[in-house]
Amino acid sequence: MKYIGHGGKEIVERVVSSPSEAKKRIKGLKRVAVTGRIARECINLAYGFFTPLEGFMNKENVESVCEKMSLTDGTLWSIPIVFDIESKEIKEKGIKEGDTILLVYRDKALATLEVEEIFSYDKVKMEQAVLGTADERHPGVRMLNKLKDTFIGGKITLVNIPKFNPPFDRFWYTPIRLREEYKKRGWKRIVAHQTRNVPHSGHEWLMKGAWFSANGELPVERLQTGILVNCIIGPKRIGDYIDEAIVLCHQKLHDARYFRDDIHMVSISLWDMRYAGPKEAIFHAILRENLGCTHHMFGRDHAGVGSFYDPYDAHRIFDQVPEGSLTIKPVRILEWWYCPVCGEVTYSGLCGHSKERQPFSGTMIRSMVQDKVRPTKLIFRPEVFDMVIECADKYGFGSPFCTEEYLAKRQPVFELSEL
Ligand SMILES: [Zn+2]
Repeated sequence: MKYIGHGGKEIVERVVSSPSEAKKRIKGLKRVAVTGRIARECINLAYGFFTPLEGFMNKENVESVCEKMSLTDGTLWSIPIVFDIESKEIKEKGIKEGDTILLVYRDKALATLEVEEIFSYDKVKMEQAVLGTADERHPGVRMLNKLKDTFIGGKITLVNIPKFNPPFDRFWYTPIRLREEYKKRGWKRIVAHQTRNVPHSGHEWLMKGAWFSANGELPVERLQTGILVNCIIGPKRIGDYIDEAIVLCHQKLHDARYFRDDIHMVSISLWDMRYAGPKEAIFHAILRENLGCTHHMFGRDHAGVGSFYDPYDAHRIFDQVPEGSLTIKPVRILEWWYCPVCGEVTYSGLCGHSKERQPFSGTMIRSMVQDKVRPTKLIFRPEVFDMVIECADKYGFGSPFCTEEYLAKRQPVFELSEL
């Protein structure tokens, strides 16, 4: 069965079929150790999460993405996917265009990279184009500033299949497996929810509102619209919710039946957030198009950071996307809040009690979680609260938020075996 991804291209897996074939393939190759980001992006490239890309971008594509928000063939694309390396290492190892090199992650073989082009690119130009700023206070700028001085463009082939550790293993689906899953469930429309958070009622209602919007005119006797919660797993900052709490608390909303079993599922994707606001919203839409989603919800300040973007920039950028360049439809959502006059969680596009409203404050909820004070169930579901506390004890060394101890001692999300 063929599955079509972004740009109308087929989802292709670039994964070696067996360890014995992998061993043959990597024999004698020059080895280059890679960072977590590159390892995550290799896995994405190999399984088709980044369709139509089959490898790291060449210079023409990087330029085109920065200047025109598209690949050289005109396919919409908003964030450069680059392989960075020190020129010193290239010289020392004698890496040349035309070579194939072996990428090694935590001392284990991961993927081969066909060296098609070795080039450099102005990082500040990239920051301005993608993030709209070169200000060091922006975490995406700090990340790009850390890139090494030279880039390699070329195709990736995965030679070692990552094994996900619990609790992540049950949430890991490749784009092809996800599509098979939708077929089994009879879903015709799938609306994606991007998250790096433990869900409070504001998030729950964001998903519920988006479900109604995506379901539209479809009949409701037999539901055919599903919500795909897609948790982003990547580098953590001190104070972020721990990854285990994010996935297990979303699953808890399902298990405690705040969402019906037949309209909701939780999954993960590996991605290092750039916090690029509008440009990242476009990227998230592309990623979820490859996951087979038909709709993508965008709330307030999607993928933003600090006050670098207007809270609704990520909504507006979809008006600038040329028609036909995305098959996924954005579902643009304002704020859900608690209103004591309405006596319920309601929507800023509906409730007129703007003086009395009580917006969901992530900061307030975090401090309640920190102090183990159970918030009212209109704000935070008790089952989810219990799960946060359970995760703190089980995975977080006593805290549901990332600490130095967690970062140093946590079990990796995935591991590679010895080839
Ligand atoms: Zn009201």
